[in-house]
Amino acid sequence: MEVKEVKLVAHHVFVVLLAASVRTQVNPEMCRYPLGMTGGQIQDEDISASSQYSESTAARFGRLDFDNGDGDGAWCPGVTSEADGLKDFLQVDLRSLHFITLVGTQGRHADGMGNEFAQRYRIQYSRGGSDWVDWRDRKGRQVIEGNRNAYEAVLKDLEPPLIARFVRFMPVTDHSMIVCMRVELYGCEWLDGLTSYSIPDGHQMIYRGRDVYFNDSVYDGASAERLTQGLGQLTDGTWGLDDFLHSQIYGMWPGYDYVGWNNRSFPKGYVEMIFEFDHVRNFTSMKVYCNNMYSRGVRLFRQATCYFRSGPDWEADPVVFRPGADHVSQAARFVTVPLGDRTASSIKCRFHFGDLWMLLSELAFQSGSAVYNTSRNKGHPTSLLPGYDPTHKLDDSNTRILIGCLVAVIAILLAIIVIILWRQVWQKMLEKASRRMLDDELTARLADQTRAFSFHHSSLSSEEGSASTSTYERIFPLCADYQEPSRLIRKLPEFAQSAEPVEKPEAACSDNAPHYAEADIISLQESSESSTCPVTAVNISLFAGTDSSLKEFPRNKLTFKEKLGEGQFGEVHLCEAEDMQDFLNEDLCIEGNNMSPLLVAVKTLREDANKNARNDFLKEIRIMSRLRDPNIVRLLAVCVDSDPLCMITEYMENGDLNQFLCNLRLRQAAEDRTEWEEKEERSMVCDRKLIGMAAQIASGMKYLSSLNFVHRDLATRNCLVGKNYTIKIADFGMSRNLYRGDYYRIQGRAVLPIRWMSWESILLGKFTMASDVWAFGVTLWEILTLCKEQPYSQLSDEQVIENTGEFFRDQGKQVYLPKPPYCPDKVYSDLMLSCWRRNAKQRPSFQDIHTQLVESLA
Ligand code: AMP
Repeated sequence: MEVKEVKLVAHHVFVVLLAASVRTQVNPEMCRYPLGMTGGQIQDEDISASSQYSESTAARFGRLDFDNGDGDGAWCPGVTSEADGLKDFLQVDLRSLHFITLVGTQGRHADGMGNEFAQRYRIQYSRGGSDWVDWRDRKGRQVIEGNRNAYEAVLKDLEPPLIARFVRFMPVTDHSMIVCMRVELYGCEWLDGLTSYSIPDGHQMIYRGRDVYFNDSVYDGASAERLTQGLGQLTDGTWGLDDFLHSQIYGMWPGYDYVGWNNRSFPKGYVEMIFEFDHVRNFTSMKVYCNNMYSRGVRLFRQATCYFRSGPDWEADPVVFRPGADHVSQAARFVTVPLGDRTASSIKCRFHFGDLWMLLSELAFQSGSAVYNTSRNKGHPTSLLPGYDPTHKLDDSNTRILIGCLVAVIAILLAIIVIILWRQVWQKMLEKASRRMLDDELTARLADQTRAFSFHHSSLSSEEGSASTSTYERIFPLCADYQEPSRLIRKLPEFAQSAEPVEKPEAACSDNAPHYAEADIISLQESSESSTCPVTAVNISLFAGTDSSLKEFPRNKLTFKEKLGEGQFGEVHLCEAEDMQDFLNEDLCIEGNNMSPLLVAVKTLREDANKNARNDFLKEIRIMSRLRDPNIVRLLAVCVDSDPLCMITEYMENGDLNQFLCNLRLRQAAEDRTEWEEKEERSMVCDRKLIGMAAQIASGMKYLSSLNFVHRDLATRNCLVGKNYTIKIADFGMSRNLYRGDYYRIQGRAVLPIRWMSWESILLGKFTMASDVWAFGVTLWEILTLCKEQPYSQLSDEQVIENTGEFFRDQGKQVYLPKPPYCPDKVYSDLMLSCWRRNAKQRPSFQDIHTQLVESLA
């Protein structure tokens, strides 16, 4: 059974289950239905935008996973005069209030024709269409991390959920990027019809010396003496725990889930709340979620007195309800207040204190048709059953159905999992069997060659001291158990047989000698020409520690601003570093930047990192601490005295070079330019700029080569872009998740960036300055194609390795990367191709490359 089918079955089962479970409060975990951008339930006329780039990128094309062929595949805003692009928005009108828990975004892919997407965006919403509210997460942040490529949809939970009829997606972009978006909203209809509540803001309790805050921290209306014209925690679908000191939501302060008041501040003994609804309704009941921790002075309200209003005045006869005190259970609970089918568009309730404190977490109203039928029909209300009683009975009868359905679902899912696992095991067995047959056949056919190769290889090993069988072992520490790719070599029998002397692999001192970038730099520093071996060097480095000018920075002086991205080690954050300039030694000072606090990038080792990752992280610190060059990312300070380990580097405003270039277009000669391209000047580069960027990388590499430092993973993804097209080389030792597709997994173990690797690196495990030069050639190609495609994109990984064999054989059958359209002929023929010469000694040095690039700019 395919994954799609499994999803379908699971979905049907859930629909059955949900249809059976009629709820009277909105449940954010279930209220996650697509609201109709993809499915078409939202009409074209309900999708609008601030602007559109062209008719074919109008708002109506901004539907997630939807490409109907008429348009260009997404909504793309027109050219905005705002430098920060904050005015652009795509607006969706849902026609009625909805509880929205999730949003999805996607870029413009258009079957490979498009490559625009929003890396970050904000959301604004409105219930009436006139007042707009900026959505913020529970920590007050507005910006949502969006897409990383043009095709994958990225879903983001809205925490807290929002209640609105109109929603706007606002790409956050700097002027150098073109963005296009396709979106979807997920949630269900907001059947309560509540448009706002007005309450006194919550109080602060001091409990055993701890501050406990009962304020309504996500209220989206106005706050003066009272909170007015908004909704907040009382309608966020999260109910507090019995112990109000703890929160359902990780990392929030004590009391977070409740809004609460102290009796002493209310001389009349009650808290008055006013509820406004979208239209006149027939109210059957109100459910109030209350805390009852009487051992700490908190109890259910003693009495609720509710007044009703359909016109200008409140009606005289209120509904009065007394729940009765509970001295037995301290459990928090929903209390149902019957509202006697009263008609109103506003309700005013006075909740009388039952003790010193009253804490409420959630409120829900049942009116007329307002019962949550969670079937997929956009959450449209079902009509009330005759004689329906919206109190506990409903919940009780449904509990049994719910449990029954849950058991059935679990059983079905278990059966599906067993079937899938069984299929996988079966497939693996088949694969193994066929592979074994293939291997046997190959072994028989190539027995002679293999013997010859083994002999040649082992003689090389003994000659050279030891040709390590674990040459790649520590290069990409994702997989510590990497084995030599002998299968690959066996695929190239001529390689083993070749009469031509194979350049000798770099010697390693023992099997566990880490062929790590660090070894090179340390061995240089410790160089004793005769017999220094990397193992000794690495050991020295481990004890030698970091560069002495690098100091521990006080963590409390770092203020988080936003997440920049995520790498293999963990997240990278943009932070403000207080007094950093004073803290840095002169040689580390960031020239021309006297801003305080200073913006820095903080790379943090994830908390669950294992020992290997921790060691690798410390190694990267050691390597970086010794590098000082304008084109190498500067390590400024570290926080390693306690966990989580952090390295603080200079902040590169434009992120990694690959993404940066991907979002640019090449400026053509002036006469070819369209009117739009003239306007789009800011997102265009000329080939001179591109060559300038490559020259900066060459300059950084020239510095590394002066230290005999081999980078081993040079590529645009591992370079960062600062202001004014400044490029710096980064990533000393790790590959990144984002670019997983650039790495080739051999026998499911090691990962290698084969498309950037020289033939001798792949076949011999030999990494030298010359193999870095090869990678530079590929990086230059990426730059001049604006990273619009992966190198050798038309070849599979296996074919790339076969092509490597052709480079080795050198019979004119090897495939070179083609000349990028706007690449000057001289740069391609004299420079790029020379980086891929078979004989490593004939490749240019970084000194030559740098000179050549600078000259071509003159
Ligand atoms: P890394 O862990 O180095 O692979 O970085 C992960 C992500 O963080 C990448 O997508 C980079 O774009 C971003 N990043 C890393 N270092 C910096 C920096 N110094 N300035 C700006 N962005 C950075």
